[in-house]
Amino acid sequence: MVAVSKKQDIIQIKKAIALGQYQFGENYIQESVEKIHQLKDNKKIVWHFIGKLQSNKTKIVAENFSWCQSIDRKKIAVLLNKYRSHNMPPINVLIQINISNECTKNGINSADCYSLAQMISLMPNLKLRGIMALPSKKKNIIDKKIDYTKISIIFHKLQKKYSSIDTLSLGTSFDIEESLIANSNMIRIGHAIFNHKK
Ligand SMILES: *Cc1c(COP(=O)(O)O)cnc(C)c1O
Repeated sequence: MVAVSKKQDIIQIKKAIALGQYQFGENYIQESVEKIHQLKDNKKIVWHFIGKLQSNKTKIVAENFSWCQSIDRKKIAVLLNKYRSHNMPPINVLIQINISNECTKNGINSADCYSLAQMISLMPNLKLRGIMALPSKKKNIIDKKIDYTKISIIFHKLQKKYSSIDTLSLGTSFDIEESLIANSNMIRIGHAIFNHKK
C-alpha cells in the first residue's frame, strides 16, 4: 500500500511512519521535494511520484524518487533515463494507462502502451515494473470494474513479455475491493488514511 501524502504535512507523514508505513505517493514536485529533504535521514522511506509529470520536472523526479508511476509518453521516459544517475539504482517505473481513453484524463491510450513498454525495457536507468491507472471518480462501480478488468488483461499480456513486470497499481480509497478483484497488487490510498473523520 502506498500512502498518498499529497497536501499532507510532515507531521501527518511522521504519524504514518510511526505506524509502520514507509511507502508514500506524492503528486506535486515542489512540496514533495521539501518533504523528501526533511525526511532524508530515514532510509526506509520509499517515495513514489504519482502526479502528472511535465518534462521540465523529470530531472527532479529522477534525482529524488524510487518510483515514477505516471509515465505516459516516450519523451518522459527518455528524460527520466537521461537524468537518473548511474550511481543510483534504476528508477522503478509504471506506465500510466488512460483506462477509458477519456481525453481529459492523464495516461497513454491502451493501444499505445505496448510500444512505450518496449522502449522503456531497453533503457538502462529505468526498471519497468508494470502499469498504473486512476479511475474517473464520476464512473459508477460497474463501469470501474469493466475498466479494471481491461487493465488487468493488458497487465498480464505485458507481464508475459517482460520479466521485470510485477506491479499492477490500481485502486484508491473509493475502489479498493474492485481493484483487488482485478488483481491489483499495489493500491494508492489518500483520503482513507489521512482525511478520515474521528
Ligand atoms: C490522489 C491520488 C490517489 C489517492 O486518492 P484517494 O481517493 O485520496 O485515496 C491515488 N492515485 C493518484 C494518482 C492520485 O493522484
